[in-house]
Amino acid sequence: TITTKSERAGSDVRHEYLRIAGKKVETKARLEVRFPWDNRLVGTVPRATPELVAEAFQIAHDYKPKLTRYQRQQILLKTADLLVSRKEELSRLITLESGLCLKDSLYEVGRAYDVFTFAGQLCMLDDGQTFSCDLTPHGKSRKIFTLRQPLNAISAITPFNHPLNMVAHKLAPAFATNNCVVLKPTELTPLTALFLADTLYEAGLPPEMLSVITGNPSDIGDAMIVDPRADLVTFTGSVRVGKYIAEKAGYKRIVLELGGNDPLIVMEDADLDKAAELAVAGATKNSGQRCTAVKRILVVDKVADAFVERVLAKAKKLKAGDPLDPETDVGTVIHERAATLFQNRVSEAVARHGAKLLHGNDRQGALFPPTVVDHVDPQAELVREETFGPAIPIIRVKDIHHAIQVSNGTAYGLSSGVCTDRLDYITKFVDELQVGTVNVWEVPGYRIEMSPFGGIKDSGLGYKEGVLEAMKSFTNVKTWSLPWP
Ligand code: NAD
Repeated sequence: TITTKSERAGSDVRHEYLRIAGKKVETKARLEVRFPWDNRLVGTVPRATPELVAEAFQIAHDYKPKLTRYQRQQILLKTADLLVSRKEELSRLITLESGLCLKDSLYEVGRAYDVFTFAGQLCMLDDGQTFSCDLTPHGKSRKIFTLRQPLNAISAITPFNHPLNMVAHKLAPAFATNNCVVLKPTELTPLTALFLADTLYEAGLPPEMLSVITGNPSDIGDAMIVDPRADLVTFTGSVRVGKYIAEKAGYKRIVLELGGNDPLIVMEDADLDKAAELAVAGATKNSGQRCTAVKRILVVDKVADAFVERVLAKAKKLKAGDPLDPETDVGTVIHERAATLFQNRVSEAVARHGAKLLHGNDRQGALFPPTVVDHVDPQAELVREETFGPAIPIIRVKDIHHAIQVSNGTAYGLSSGVCTDRLDYITKFVDELQVGTVNVWEVPGYRIEMSPFGGIKDSGLGYKEGVLEAMKSFTNVKTWSLPWP
């Protein structure tokens, strides 16, 4: 292979180790991490074996954390502060391994700060309940109390699109509830996860509470799912892998946060300028690689021409290019393979389904720039499947019934955004959209890191995420009762 100038200089290249209970561990084989923009080497990480995964679970299983609520709070708040104090270094690392632009990676550090501060603050909250038992004719003079106990060992598997924040959403609630975690970040962006682990150890986390295992899912994926010492598998990623985990895990608690195909729906009464702003930002932020990115825009015929004009003007203003340039609005997608897939889907929507390409689709390597396509057929793969890049596909619909029918017509059900001021429309959307979230006048991705979050249908199973819900899913509720004469 050809080495680039910066590779020879060795400037940014990190050669990393596993962290098994805080200890740096080497393996024989290594994996490379490359910058999607120019393919330069960013780092290498160990390619772990199932035996090393087992060792990490044994330590997690054997260690029983005894941190007080105050100690947990201090560790989490300190981690939040350390992340922000290192935001330049950290955002650069995220950008280098993911191709997300610096604007996006800086935003990501801010979100992770929120996750750790919420988790720190929520350590205070003891959500135990009390039930009096003398409530019915056959009642007794007793009281029942509830308390939450940690599960102990958690297996966490995370995706590439938020190399820091998706990991934060697994780790912060786990430590807030005194659990141990064995984390397998994606092989595409493992360096940020290792950086975060070191920050947590530095903030005072007992090393036994966190191990980070890097490697190929084909080598270690099953070991992360079936280890009998793992009390729960929490996974964020694609539907394909999520369903595999659901089959493989057997009698074990699982949390699955999967893909999305979220609509932004624009009704005829909407302020079209405001709606176009949300459409373009929602479809292109984070290079369109958010589970809750706007992946389809459904606009009512009557206002479609005027709306599309505004979308086009706003999309043309975005600067796509070098992710390390602070002015760049849209960096690359994760790799050239993904960019090519999106380009082909757009071409197919045009050639086979009669869509009209208005802007973009001029891919260069892993750079797939914002691409506006109008008159998209809901049957086109571009909008039927999750297109995980900054495509801006517009589907024209007749009315609210048609919008709801098209919106509910895919296998996904994560989130949605609706642009209307009419209360009758709003209540109908909230009642009838088959999704986990309906945001009025916001992008589907809008939330705070503490509020419940997660999808239905193929987008997720069972428990929700968000710090508060995750803390519930990582604990068992125990009841105990007393005579209360
Ligand atoms: P992916 O499913 O390819 O990979 C996710 C993780 O699973 C990685 O760590 C990967 O190494 C691991 N993995 C792959 N095969 C495995 C196996 N057989 N056993 C165990 N682990 C395995 O997903 P991705 O491409 O990294 O992420 C993008 C997807 O994640 C998109 O679909 C996106 O919508 C989704 N996502 C969902 C949410 C949510 O909260 N609902 C949030 C972010 C991303």
